[in-house]
Amino acid sequence: DAKKAGKGQIRTFNPQMLGLPREAILDSALRHAMHTDELYLLYQPIVDVNSGEIRKFEALIRWSSKTLGQVPPDQFIPIAEDSDLILDIGDWVIATACAQFAEWSQHFDIRNCVMSINISAAQLMDSRFAGKLKAILSTHGLQPSQIELELTERVLIDDGDYVRRSLSDLNQLGVRISLDDFGTGYSALSYLTKFQIDTLKIDRSFVMRLTEHDKLEQLVSSIIMMGHKLGMSLVAEGVETAYQASTLSAMGCHFLQGYLISKPIAAQDIPAFVLSHGSG
Ligand code: C2E
Ligand code: CA
Ligand code: CA
Ligand code: CA
Repeated sequence: DAKKAGKGQIRTFNPQMLGLPREAILDSALRHAMHTDELYLLYQPIVDVNSGEIRKFEALIRWSSKTLGQVPPDQFIPIAEDSDLILDIGDWVIATACAQFAEWSQHFDIRNCVMSINISAAQLMDSRFAGKLKAILSTHGLQPSQIELELTERVLIDDGDYVRRSLSDLNQLGVRISLDDFGTGYSALSYLTKFQIDTLKIDRSFVMRLTEHDKLEQLVSSIIMMGHKLGMSLVAEGVETAYQASTLSAMGCHFLQGYLISKPIAAQDIPAFVLSHGSG
């Protein structure tokens, strides 16, 4: 791992030499990262299928560790979720994404745009969650409807009283709720009617398999039709080819996200990207 680290990495201290399990190493390095500027966010534009305009941005966390190099979120978020760390990281993500979004208003009209933020279960267990979010929104002059929270099916299936309470507070506040990785989790669909869900994100694993050869059309098309019937907005993630984009568009999917449109990019590159693609 260390050998593959990019140039410019400082490798004077390699904690792996101590023989600690990877989880412990990541946990301790991550606690350190919270107090340095090793964590940052990238933003991936999401476009309206019909107009091609940018309507949403998904905030995606990155960790550039001085000791471990670039660590992907799939590796460190689960470790943060095993402890209270995810609460601090989650607070930081929300505050940073909202501040950044408000700052973009100096460059383009954000009023018809939405900032989409990934949320872990533990954040929703905190009864102050909606209240804290409300305070951040008012600090930055943002409307609740400009924020969408991305939850996975796992969070809803938990169905704890705290989660239920938080979701109802969030609905009351007026932020949007999005169901991430839809179709990959549990098969119980009852939560679709039990909770107020605005958006379904069709998982990349389905989009990926939409090729001329392996036809998965019926399944994806059924998900989209179901979303329409429930009055939900549909986002397809991981769109990489023009074929996938046109197939999803023909099926009635509303929004596209993926490398075909853009990889996640740095905050300072968003205004130029929006100005060249249009928004709102
Ligand atoms: P996710 O929420 O499903 O995010 C979508 C992932 O797909 C992102 O990976 C994104 O970079 C990637 N992606 C987007 N378009 C394409 C494409 O066309 N092709 C391919 N191959 N990949 C694409 P990323 O950024 O590595 O994030 C991985 C996961 O880490 C996320 O999956 C999410 O579950 C978690 N995550 C990221 N940021 C946060 C955060 O701030 N908080 C929490 N709780 N979780 C986060
Ligand atoms: Ca997501
Ligand atoms: Ca996703
Ligand atoms: Ca995913």
